[in-house]
Amino acid sequence: MLKNLINLLFPKLCNGCNSLLLQNEKIICTDCRHQLPLTQHHLLKDNYTTKKFYGIIPIEFSCAMLYFHKKGVVQNLIHNLKYRNHQEIGTFLGNWYANDLKEIAKEHAFSEIIPVPLHQKRLKERGYNQVTTFCKALSENLEIGYNETLLYRNVYSKSQTKKSKEARAEVNNSLFDVKYTTADSGKHFLLVDDVITSGATLEACARALLKIPNTKISIITIAYTDS
Ligand SMILES: [Zn+2]
Repeated sequence: MLKNLINLLFPKLCNGCNSLLLQNEKIICTDCRHQLPLTQHHLLKDNYTTKKFYGIIPIEFSCAMLYFHKKGVVQNLIHNLKYRNHQEIGTFLGNWYANDLKEIAKEHAFSEIIPVPLHQKRLKERGYNQVTTFCKALSENLEIGYNETLLYRNVYSKSQTKKSKEARAEVNNSLFDVKYTTADSGKHFLLVDDVITSGATLEACARALLKIPNTKISIITIAYTDS
């Protein structure tokens, strides 16, 4: 009774299309759930995400869960997760994707899940890192450790559009660093971000992690886009 009243006063909306959620629906409506553009890239060794790193950095395995289309369901999900504090979206997607990744996780024996870090200042502004809940759901379901202190972001990045390509590459390469001990060597890190576009951020993170001796890197993102 009370629950019905609360629902009436504060109706829950679908995070994908904004329609009213039915009582048995959570996070997204059934229509959006059926329409989620799953890439199924985890089944392909040479997928779009992997190809972004060809000849650039050595990656053991990489894939993205969903295709990102402007004005689509995935854009809404990412927006609500990133800017509107709907962190439950990350848990929902992480629980779902962990199920698809069980065999991959066994095969690659990932040591730790590493989120792409926000700068401390941005973290304070937003209050959370948008990939944390997704990472934690993967970590719990796949029984892989979660480490958010190893990799960190150096500078608070403002617009880099005015810098030359070379200067930008240099900035990107010094954007991230690692605080590690000998206990961190020889591990296979699973680096996680929300959306992969050019792959430059993930490349910079991977380069920082590769400073640790005998490191292997894999990459997973929630969504994939070319632009
Ligand atoms: Zn919907």
